[in-house]
Amino acid sequence: MKIAIYPGSFDPITKGHLDILKNASQIFDKVIIAVAHNGEKKGFLTVDERVMLIKQSIGDFDNVEVDSFTGLTIEYAKKHGAKVLIRGLRAVSDFEYEMQLSQTNSALCEDIKTVFLTTKPKYNFISSSTIKEILNNDGDISKFVPEPVFNYLTKKGK
Ligand code: ADP
Repeated sequence: MKIAIYPGSFDPITKGHLDILKNASQIFDKVIIAVAHNGEKKGFLTVDERVMLIKQSIGDFDNVEVDSFTGLTIEYAKKHGAKVLIRGLRAVSDFEYEMQLSQTNSALCEDIKTVFLTTKPKYNFISSSTIKEILNNDGDISKFVPEPVFNYLTKKGK
């Protein structure tokens, strides 16, 4: 059974993340989308809110699990028997950081490989940080996020 972990902040999950997740779920037997607790970065949403919104947004994937974790991603992957980490690439600007991250993870554990996926062009430019920016300026985020995220964030306000 080929298990992959899709780690990230997902603060909040976007249609771009969902498209990556969909592609990954068609390639691997099981995908665990895992929200990383990041001690240094104060999130916009709590990890529990992010997990809840992911669960509400992934309705029709039956080989996807949602979780959160603390500590190193590779340790989390080992614990779950996963040999693959999924990361998404949008523009060249993602490349340097993602390359560094995947090589660091390879140096820490050779057996776990990073697989990069891309989205459909219409979702390529979406990022959690621009969504927060639009929301803060009372813009319409409905095109960029799944419906449960839109409903939750509009109710929650700034
Ligand atoms: P992190 O804080 O770990 O960078 P994010 O939650 O922002 O995590 O994103 C998780 C992964 O999904 C990253 O590899 C990021 O590049 C990728 N990603 C995010 N949005 C998109 C998108 N619109 N298209 C392709 N990949 C994306």
